[in-house]
Amino acid sequence: MLSNFHTHTERCKHAYGTEADYAETAYTMGLGILGFSDHGPFPDEDMGYRMDFNELPLYLSEIDKLSEKYKGKIQLYKGLEIEYHPKYMDYYRQLYDKFNMEYLALGEHMFTSTGGKVKNIFFAESTKDYIEYAENIAAALETGLFTFIAHPDIMFLNLHPHDKNCDKACDIILSTAEKYDVPLELNANGIRRGPRMYPEGMRLPYPYDRFWKQLSGSKQRVIIGSDCHTPEQIRDNSVIAAEKMCMELNLNVIDNIFTRS
Ligand SMILES: [Zn+2]
Ligand SMILES: [Zn+2]
Repeated sequence: MLSNFHTHTERCKHAYGTEADYAETAYTMGLGILGFSDHGPFPDEDMGYRMDFNELPLYLSEIDKLSEKYKGKIQLYKGLEIEYHPKYMDYYRQLYDKFNMEYLALGEHMFTSTGGKVKNIFFAESTKDYIEYAENIAAALETGLFTFIAHPDIMFLNLHPHDKNCDKACDIILSTAEKYDVPLELNANGIRRGPRMYPEGMRLPYPYDRFWKQLSGSKQRVIIGSDCHTPEQIRDNSVIAAEKMCMELNLNVIDNIFTRS
């Protein structure tokens, strides 16, 4: 079944289209499942690139309405893509219990380094940051509150040459995902960004080959995420390229994050 669990909307201020636009386009494209995972707000601070906290109820009620409208045609899910920080543990629980969220995709863009400084993985100072980034992911998975890991290899968009720290960061993420049986997302948005020049030659910023090759033939569940920021991207050439990549790498691709292995 065609599905996508990584969908943004105009509420995050850097995507286009309403929830209704995405639902209609997904249905027209033949998807059986569409999960909304717009960038999640925090109640007390604005980290940018996300919806306002006061829009959260609207976002969810709109998806509820669309679920009714598309009943029997396409299954919609309510989710958010959000960063982990231990101080928000109660908030994550509230998202499920009070807001009736169905899943949280762990989308670590901002992460907390040792010493408490919040850093952006798009501007990693060195590959040492990758290890701290991976440790944040591990701590997040330990809580059991995150349903899948969005773009677990996004740190490799940085230009630092591959070294031992990179291997260690990959190890931490892969072993923790296995331990808690959490799906890893192979993200099509990295394909959309296009190949760039890196110290080791031309390659995509992510998906990062050396990361995914380690899962070749393994049982680790992999979900392909469109990470669409326009309705047309729900299933575009980048998603199709991601499917091909998974096939060539012999990954265990699933179409539903709620199905256990
Ligand atoms: Zn975004
Ligand atoms: Zn995203």
